[in-house]
Amino acid sequence: MTEIAAQRIRAHVKFLASDLLEGRGVGARGGDLATEYIAAQLVLAGAKPAGDNGTYFQNLTLVGAEPQPTTELAAATTDGKRWSFRWLDDFVGVTLQQQADAAVDADAVFVGHGITAPEYQWDDYAEADVRGKVVVLFTNEPPSDDPKFFTGRALTYYGRWTYKYEEATRHGAVAAIIIHTTPTASYGWDVVRSSWGREDQQVKLASGAPALAFAGWITKEQGEKIAATLGKTTDELLKMADTRGFKPIPLPLRFSGRMPTKIREIRTRNVVGKIDGSDPQLKNEAVIFSAHWDHLGIGQGVDGDKIYNGAADNATGCGMILEIARAWSMLPEKPRRSALFLAVTAEEAGLRGSEYYGQHPVIPAGKTAADLNFDMFMPFGRSSDVVVNGAERTTIYPIVQEAAGRFDLRIKPDPRPDAGTYYRSDHFSLARVGIPSFSIEGGEDLLGKPPGTVKKLFDDFEEHHYLQPSDEYHDDWDFSGMEQFARFGFLIGVNVANAPKLPSWRAGDEFLPARIGSGVK
Ligand SMILES: [Zn+2]
Repeated sequence: MTEIAAQRIRAHVKFLASDLLEGRGVGARGGDLATEYIAAQLVLAGAKPAGDNGTYFQNLTLVGAEPQPTTELAAATTDGKRWSFRWLDDFVGVTLQQQADAAVDADAVFVGHGITAPEYQWDDYAEADVRGKVVVLFTNEPPSDDPKFFTGRALTYYGRWTYKYEEATRHGAVAAIIIHTTPTASYGWDVVRSSWGREDQQVKLASGAPALAFAGWITKEQGEKIAATLGKTTDELLKMADTRGFKPIPLPLRFSGRMPTKIREIRTRNVVGKIDGSDPQLKNEAVIFSAHWDHLGIGQGVDGDKIYNGAADNATGCGMILEIARAWSMLPEKPRRSALFLAVTAEEAGLRGSEYYGQHPVIPAGKTAADLNFDMFMPFGRSSDVVVNGAERTTIYPIVQEAAGRFDLRIKPDPRPDAGTYYRSDHFSLARVGIPSFSIEGGEDLLGKPPGTVKKLFDDFEEHHYLQPSDEYHDDWDFSGMEQFARFGFLIGVNVANAPKLPSWRAGDEFLPARIGSGVK
């Protein structure tokens, strides 16, 4: 009974991904049902409530901001030329002020990549006062092969577009506009266009908190017009941004715009349960097992099916942490630190539930030993390798290696560190408040199957089922791989919970300052 078992993970997945749960939409009945189920399962597993007011729920409010097609943006040069941008064709974006009628009318400054990174002696805002201004910039980071400079080819958080808006806000800008290029974004304008034309769900701002009136992108073609005001091309601007010693450049331009926005409040919740540690002191510290419970709810029908069940994404991760919770509470002697089982909301909206948890942790981030995250496992069976991107950046890594050895798992390095996948799952929200965090992900070499089988199956899943109504549970799914990885995560969790020293990030890591309390990334 103590062993983690595939059949129990299957039972959770089958229920959470059933049509009855209507795709586990955030702020929808199906999501409320899913969270009730997860809370009930935590009770049955023997975990105590760790949410608000003695419940298993951590309640939060999201603000939905849906930009209207009447959104306007125009630029005027100091010598009297004026042009306007066409919504979706030339520009996209949203207000982060959570108001129905945000507006911009301000001078512009080109700030390169928009990065302030003291550890690399790099400051794209050096000596400039951008308060109340529009900053124009590129996403990504200065290219490098030197691991000591923006970690070489691997993308750091400084390179992500979300960081650009956060840094612009810290510098007091009123708006931030990213000039899109396919290489810097790693995807084309069609992707930008389709992911920005709709409602953005944001964690509700604290009253008085600063926020951009407009956070957006423009096409490279429109970027050329801006570059031309400096007598340059977009590529030349990018080259300047990539060069050490870059200084911000005031543009002979004024942007004006109106951002009519449909605003609504969405009430949702994380689910969190706790199993106390056995050590009287260390039980105030914890290891987190996390998985997002939300999916896309009911949406546009495909072949007559409107329910986005999200079976792989992410009923699987929920089933795994519930089964880990059950096994943890069955341990005759509990590990020294406590364990938290955290099912977060609104991952699909941009890691919002985990972002909220990072800002409102049940156990302080500085006392949280680790977050092991589980997001989307495929039902292909057992593999001989595992992906734990980011683990090698923490002092937990020897424990991970030892566990991998015990399960005969080869640790597979990140095939595309430049794509920044580390920053796209919930563990990242906890990393940025300093918690050593990573996701455990399935491998690529299936036991007893020819090499390349996973790639073929996964490519097919991505093309036909990922984020589609057809991501559904099937009775012929093989849960043995999920059992294997849940056991693997469980062992890591137990050993981290018993470790003499609280884990941390390794020297020089971008999240170490947050760990030692000198700043949140
Ligand atoms: Zn997911």
